[in-house]
Amino acid sequence: MPTHLVWLRHDLRVTDNRALNAACQHSEAKVLAVFIATPIQWKTHHMAPRQAAFLLAHLKAVQARLAELNIPLHYHECDDFQDAVKWLIDFCDHHKVDKLFYNHQYEINESRRDHALEKKLSHQVICQGFHDAVLLPPEKVLKENGQMYQVFTPFRRAFLKQLFLTNLSCIPVPKKRDGPQVSISLTELSFDYPLLDFDTELFPIGEAAAQKQLTRFCDAKVSAYSHARDMLAIKGTSGLSPYLTLGILSPRQCLGCLREAFPEGIEDHKGAFDWLNELIWRDFYRHLLIAYPRLSKGHPFIGWTTFVQWHHSDSLLEKWQQGQTGYPIVDAAMRQLNTTGWMHNRLRMITASFLVKDLLIDWRLGERYFMSQLIDGDLAANNGGWQWAASTGTDAAPYFRIFNPTTQGERFDPKGEFIRHWLPELNPVPESEIHQPWSWAEKNHKQLDYPTPIVDHQQARQATLSAFATAKNLS
Ligand code: FAD
Repeated sequence: MPTHLVWLRHDLRVTDNRALNAACQHSEAKVLAVFIATPIQWKTHHMAPRQAAFLLAHLKAVQARLAELNIPLHYHECDDFQDAVKWLIDFCDHHKVDKLFYNHQYEINESRRDHALEKKLSHQVICQGFHDAVLLPPEKVLKENGQMYQVFTPFRRAFLKQLFLTNLSCIPVPKKRDGPQVSISLTELSFDYPLLDFDTELFPIGEAAAQKQLTRFCDAKVSAYSHARDMLAIKGTSGLSPYLTLGILSPRQCLGCLREAFPEGIEDHKGAFDWLNELIWRDFYRHLLIAYPRLSKGHPFIGWTTFVQWHHSDSLLEKWQQGQTGYPIVDAAMRQLNTTGWMHNRLRMITASFLVKDLLIDWRLGERYFMSQLIDGDLAANNGGWQWAASTGTDAAPYFRIFNPTTQGERFDPKGEFIRHWLPELNPVPESEIHQPWSWAEKNHKQLDYPTPIVDHQQARQATLSAFATAKNLS
């Protein structure tokens, strides 16, 4: 009897999982699944303890789901990818695996690992990889000259053309395999990695919970998305990023649900189309990782920005990390991140801009800090977001576009409700002054248990413009 192995990574689901589905195609084959944890590498990549806990919870959930299908999930912990490859070769040998299926990961180390494995197994095991974590495979959306787009708008145009030509229906859960019942012991699974509890009300566990959240969003909220997505006091976005990052939900499921909610076409509904646009940004950053592998290694996309003279200040960095900058919108956002592991997209842009353009601190330090806290930490989207905010990336904000943290707060949290939620020490400050509590305190001779701004925005702005202009002239 042939034995097929599916190697699960960031695709912890049984619905619409291309590798799992392929492994289950042969009805006679015995199907095994494996997950390999590499905690030492997770540390090197600053994986957030909350994300590790979320991953572990979903590994257990998918183990239970696989057991219902009579597919045992084997778990192994390794030091690094080299070890993982060695262990997998032995595993294939021991279990007489004839076919190995996996879904592609696009980061440079992960794709090198897969190439190495395929090469080493080439004589005994047929390996097959699938583009499962994206809506469209990277090679499908290229310019006429075969190169990757560097600007999002033409990429999106080409993407949409392809999208409407491609059948992207979701694959159902595979049928239960014949054979003896698989028993599991959930308590056996644990990581040698620090874990931090996450809020299971905000991020309930399991594929079914993610699917429910997706359906609710598409049915009830997506119509208002275009406006609501930027308003910080309401939950106007899907909150699905942790599920998409770890593959508990696929982007095709998102598209499918959107199409079901708008059967007459997504393009005619602004909210639905804007949400699809975000899913396309997600693909864009993944496709970029393939075309420009150096992005995985912390290189800026725009070469001359390597000449920017960053300001080195542990104390300012720490104040930003802890939400003690004196700018309420920045501090409320950082406290939301530190407390929940999640931050609103508008706030990610504001806080990233503040670190880079107000404190002139190297964007890579911010990128790393986000990874160490985010429950949805994802190299492609995080790197893309940071390089966008730092004006170092492809199709990034131009360097002279600098968010004013006070006016951003006034625009997107006009009544200061979000700010008050995270900064209760500002409760005495009236609504009209909530974005500049220092001036209210000064005018009214009040003492607040809240810092005054650590930099003057206008002066910081000038310093940043000058640092970027100098770097550009040096190139
Ligand atoms: P929704 O608005 O509901 O969007 C739906 C999905 O589209 C998201 O779940 C996400 O998968 C994707 N998406 C939305 N916006 C973007 C975007 N700008 N770029 C890429 N994909 C997007 N997203 C991550 O998933 N992980 C990260 O580590 C991450 N780091 C970021 C860092 C910075 C500095 C910035 C500016 C953005 C970052 N983003 C990241 C993108 C975005 O902020 C989050 O995806 C979004 O806030 C998640 O909330 P949501 O699921 O409610 O999004």
